[in-house]
Amino acid sequence: MRIVLTLVACLLLHGSATGDERPPARKHVVMRGIYGGVPAALMAKGKTLSSVGVDAVFIGERAITKARVQAIKAQGARVFAEFNTVHRAEYLKAHPDAAPVGVDGKRAPAPHGWQGICPTHPEYRAWRMDAFRTLLASHEIDGVWLDYHHGHASWERAKPALPDTCFCDRCVAAFKARTKIDGAEDRAAIVKHLAKKDSAVRTAWIRWRCEVFTDWVRSFRKILDATRPAALLGTYHCPWTEAEHEGALKAKLAIDLRAQKPYLDVFSPMPYHARFGHAKDPAWISRQTAWLGKHLDLQGKASERVKIWPIVQLSDWGEKVPVEQVESVLDHGSRLPATGVMVFRWGTLRKEPAKVEAMVRFYRSIAR
Ligand SMILES: [Zn+2]
Repeated sequence: MRIVLTLVACLLLHGSATGDERPPARKHVVMRGIYGGVPAALMAKGKTLSSVGVDAVFIGERAITKARVQAIKAQGARVFAEFNTVHRAEYLKAHPDAAPVGVDGKRAPAPHGWQGICPTHPEYRAWRMDAFRTLLASHEIDGVWLDYHHGHASWERAKPALPDTCFCDRCVAAFKARTKIDGAEDRAAIVKHLAKKDSAVRTAWIRWRCEVFTDWVRSFRKILDATRPAALLGTYHCPWTEAEHEGALKAKLAIDLRAQKPYLDVFSPMPYHARFGHAKDPAWISRQTAWLGKHLDLQGKASERVKIWPIVQLSDWGEKVPVEQVESVLDHGSRLPATGVMVFRWGTLRKEPAKVEAMVRFYRSIAR
């Protein structure tokens, strides 16, 4: 026993002496990413992305160019495109009939400026599907991450605004045709039921809305398989559990993660701890990821087809993220069942060199 204890003590001492006992080993991490812009500063002055531990860059679909894809890949990193599904607000200028309708039958105001689109507008959907196909066909990207794929709401904050939508004639008719449920003759009747938690109409309405959003994911998958089958399909999504905010993940945002799972390769929850009211509690990140793993039956094993790669907040957004917290945020973001982690967001983070340095230190220490 004494020998064992001595050995343990030696190992611990060695760890402290070299300063490499933290962060813990992350052999399961297969992706260390940066979201939100080409990290040019990390690619200049003799540096390469791989030398600073970064092996993936996530950039907006409209910022993808052949030159950028080539430049990032030449540095030993993968390139993923972020794709806005149902929040391309500029579409409404020429197509006001695509705006989500509220419980009063009028166009729903955009909460905190977050403007969604009616998810059953056929031309809007066709426009986004075509854009998705063109993006994949035109660029040698390694995957596409769906973004803003949820009902009209403002949830990226501590106190969300979650209106009920969309009650346009098209959505109401589609719901009735699909469910044929009694007591849902028109908008007003459905709205009345939403107040009753045990209403069968309410349950059917929530399920139908989730199906509509899942069907989009099914179509994106089909296009990806036909256009660039080696690419990954990921999704950025609200990090809440199904119990938080009175079940708003399904009831308001229309996100059914389990139903979407067959069509996705990677789930990227967005546990922005500081932004969402957990500024002093980075452990919230790994608690949310742990729930997601249980919910989706994923442990982070290499053999699993579907992966969890959270996007964690390093740049300030409302609340500040102090530089001293960077390691802890990345530590919690890269714990199993997560097998990858990326940081939010380069556009602002690049102006904070101390945080970039802390990120690089962490990424390099876990790079395999
Ligand atoms: Zn609608």
